[in-house]
Amino acid sequence: MRRRIVAGNWKMNGSRALVQQLLPPVSSELASLDNGVGVVVIPPALYVASVLEKAGAGLEVGVQNIACQDAGAFTGEISASMASDTGCRYALVGHSERRQLFGETDDQIAAKVSQAVSHGLTAILCVGETLAQREAGAAEHVVAGQVQAGLAKVAAGQWQNIVVAYEPVWAIGTGKTATAGDAQAMHAAIRQELKKLGAPADELSLLYGGSVKADNAAALFAQPDIDGGLIGGASLKADEFLSICRAMP
Ligand code: PGA
Repeated sequence: MRRRIVAGNWKMNGSRALVQQLLPPVSSELASLDNGVGVVVIPPALYVASVLEKAGAGLEVGVQNIACQDAGAFTGEISASMASDTGCRYALVGHSERRQLFGETDDQIAAKVSQAVSHGLTAILCVGETLAQREAGAAEHVVAGQVQAGLAKVAAGQWQNIVVAYEPVWAIGTGKTATAGDAQAMHAAIRQELKKLGAPADELSLLYGGSVKADNAAALFAQPDIDGGLIGGASLKADEFLSICRAMP
């Protein structure tokens, strides 16, 4: 049985006030969710401690990025072991904003995935094509390459700590979502790619991300290869985030 996950990526948004306002209703409502969904909040690293303090049982916390290295003279970075030490269970790796705005390479992404899983975190590897790549008919090829490269350093016993999030770049923050059918097709292709890498692909969770909202989540989550969502903007509003969590069948 694959883990069903709804993860909220706050990106560089939030404040102490948002933590105070959002966490209590989300935490208390989680108890009443009977669909087995695992809910993860991924705030900016500075707010991890206060989110953990407010998070009730069943709510897990992650970081949006980690360093390629474990410790040392890397000013401004935080490591997977620090994230794990402070109580995080998840790390996003290779989000398209990291790739596009901060120049993250496939090699760095592979090193970060390796750091995450070596320190007991679940790495959520983000992959996805740009609009130009989709229009050129290269979406599956691009995504397969990102999956192969990002997971190149995963050892045989570490696959249970891997989640892949398919986030078409053209759907992130734009209000445009992939159709449930297109998203399903890409998720099925990703699962095939994972099989080729020797992963227990049928046991790994694949999330869809890109303008997931309360009104489109159910159709996406109903697809056989979509095991949950990575939610950006809509994770900053308690009601909408909870509606998305409830949309899991
Ligand atoms: P969005 O972001 O839901 O605001 O489109 C998703 C993401 O980038 O993780």
